[in-house]
Amino acid sequence: MEKKRIYLSSPTMHGEEQEFVQEAFDTNWVAPLGPNVNEFEKELAKYVGIPHAAALSAGTAAIHLALKLAGVEEGDVVFVPSLTFSATCNPIAYEKATPVFIDSERDTWNMASEALEKAYEKYPNPKAVIVVHLYGTPARMDEIMDICKAHGTVLIEDAAESLGSTYKGKHTGTFGRLGIYSFNGNKIITTSGGGMLVSEEEELIKKARFLSTQARDPARHYQHSQIGYNYRMSNITAGIGRGQLLFMEEHKAKKKEIYRKYKEAFSDIPEIAMNPLNPDGDANCWLSCMTIAPGCKVTPDMVLDTLEGENIESRPIWKPMHLQPVFEKYDFFTLCENGESVAEDIFNRGLCLPSDIKNTDEDMARIIGLVKNLFLS
Ligand SMILES: *Cc1c(COP(=O)(O)O)cnc(C)c1O
Repeated sequence: MEKKRIYLSSPTMHGEEQEFVQEAFDTNWVAPLGPNVNEFEKELAKYVGIPHAAALSAGTAAIHLALKLAGVEEGDVVFVPSLTFSATCNPIAYEKATPVFIDSERDTWNMASEALEKAYEKYPNPKAVIVVHLYGTPARMDEIMDICKAHGTVLIEDAAESLGSTYKGKHTGTFGRLGIYSFNGNKIITTSGGGMLVSEEEELIKKARFLSTQARDPARHYQHSQIGYNYRMSNITAGIGRGQLLFMEEHKAKKKEIYRKYKEAFSDIPEIAMNPLNPDGDANCWLSCMTIAPGCKVTPDMVLDTLEGENIESRPIWKPMHLQPVFEKYDFFTLCENGESVAEDIFNRGLCLPSDIKNTDEDMARIIGLVKNLFLS
């Protein structure tokens, strides 16, 4: 008999989601607008502590609109971490702007401020900086905001993976001029697919809603003075989001417990280190990751293969963007000499462990046993 499948991070539904969706059906609000969309925006904004939010079809759409609102145009430079998912930087390419990749720091795996400073020496006038809170660990926002402020650069926060994470008590996604969240199927809460753009500035969010609904001018006839997008979230999707948001803190507590269990279980294997958590923050622990010490006989591929052989899903670390065929022609700034980088080192030695909040104690024991065995045998 095939062993029970254990997932990396799959949707966890509770029933309340369906009630909001049913309400949408009952009132025939089956459209890319409606009460669930308005309420989901308000509820999400309240949860993270920011006044304005626009619900969109994807996190990627939110990043795209954030860049447009920041005034990014063809040829403009945008600084972005190399160690991230491609969705962070694809929208830069949509606008024919130029991504410039920044290395990570060891302590948080996020954008290294020293490497960012170095990038400014060559490119003094970037149009925007995108910071990412990778796997839910908050970046060092004090340093990054100081640098952006000193140079007068718009800061955009890609908090797709870090909804619920805080830095010095403030939610990630609320530090930048614009912040984005994702509700993709594997994120900490999901709407099957969707995103949110947030800001302190009402004007920016109003503009985002305008651009996301085909940029229709306020005239009775269909008139357009700008290119628009079909990026609005549907009222059905938003219903799922409202139901999920009720369980956000529960999901976060469970993700943190998974991280804690791995950390404790691997504490007697000196070759294993868990992904770092920022001591100035409270991470949502979206994915628990591990790295293997250099020179160890066990490789990340061996761990991935062993788990897959037992029907357990795990994943490599995001492959750095400066190593991607589609982005390799762009500049990359690292503090490492001899052509190496922290991002590549984490990629080479790391992997994402199953972090599904439906995993039982038994599931966790199975995963941990399999991993430990590789190191002890
Ligand atoms: C998931 C993710 C996105 C994209 O969000 P979608 O909702 O899937 O479009 C962007 N950035 C990062 C870092 C992500 O992990």
